[in-house]
Amino acid sequence: MVAALLAGCAKPPEMQPVLGTSAVVDAMSTGSINPMATGLRTAYQPMPAMPSVLFGKLAGRTLTVSESGPLGLRPGEIILTFDDGPRAGPTESILETLDQFGVKATFLMLGSSAERYPALAREVAERGHTVGTHTYDHVDLSTLSNHEAIAEIYAGQQAVAAALAPDNLAPSRFFRFPYLAQNGVIRTSAVESRFIVLDVDIDSKDYYTETPQQVLERTLARLDEQGSGVVLFHDIHLRTAAMLPEFLKALRERGYQVVTLRSSGGGVFDGPVITADASSAGSEI
Ligand SMILES: [Zn+2]
Repeated sequence: MVAALLAGCAKPPEMQPVLGTSAVVDAMSTGSINPMATGLRTAYQPMPAMPSVLFGKLAGRTLTVSESGPLGLRPGEIILTFDDGPRAGPTESILETLDQFGVKATFLMLGSSAERYPALAREVAERGHTVGTHTYDHVDLSTLSNHEAIAEIYAGQQAVAAALAPDNLAPSRFFRFPYLAQNGVIRTSAVESRFIVLDVDIDSKDYYTETPQQVLERTLARLDEQGSGVVLFHDIHLRTAAMLPEFLKALRERGYQVVTLRSSGGGVFDGPVITADASSAGSEI
């Protein structure tokens, strides 16, 4: 038994920093933050910067998936996802907060947003977050024909790929349906085209006109009910950016771990293209 326990503890989660003692983390995580430790922050930052190493306990394992379907999250594991961005302002703030807490998220970008803010799209990827796509212009795909829907999915994927390309970066295979609106035919076509459909377990409903505190409390309550899951946020809302530090602090205090999500294999264009319109089959992105 002792050996098994030791074996279980001997392999820390990926990305977890090496610390002298865990007591240091506990002491710091429950104490007040020393603003004198920050030389780079302005008074407008929602929380002073601390070395992300102090927040390492929140970062969980890296989960690499190859197909749509259940992710096999363990109790206490959550995946953070942010849809509809990037957008100047909230996305930048969210990136700062994620860095401060030392965790990685998945950003399902709109092609139109990536075209508008290509440098910000690259910034998301450069900071080690996973970039997926969410159509070009947030169309309800369930209202379209199969070919139209797949063309819209590809248009989004291509626009995000174009934004990332200058840095030799590429989007992952993750795709999320706008409004979570889908039908079996379109979902099957997307899967056959090598997209990995990323579903949602916990909807923060951060698109409601509410206070950050209301979003925070609802999301934590849903998470505590379920105990794990994929959480949906949107990095286009200032209320989301505003609540995120408190949300991550609460996750850490409650013992959750934020799992880093990655897709395996090559890009979506390595597989068959299930659309009448796509012409990029075989492209190396
Ligand atoms: Zn959306």
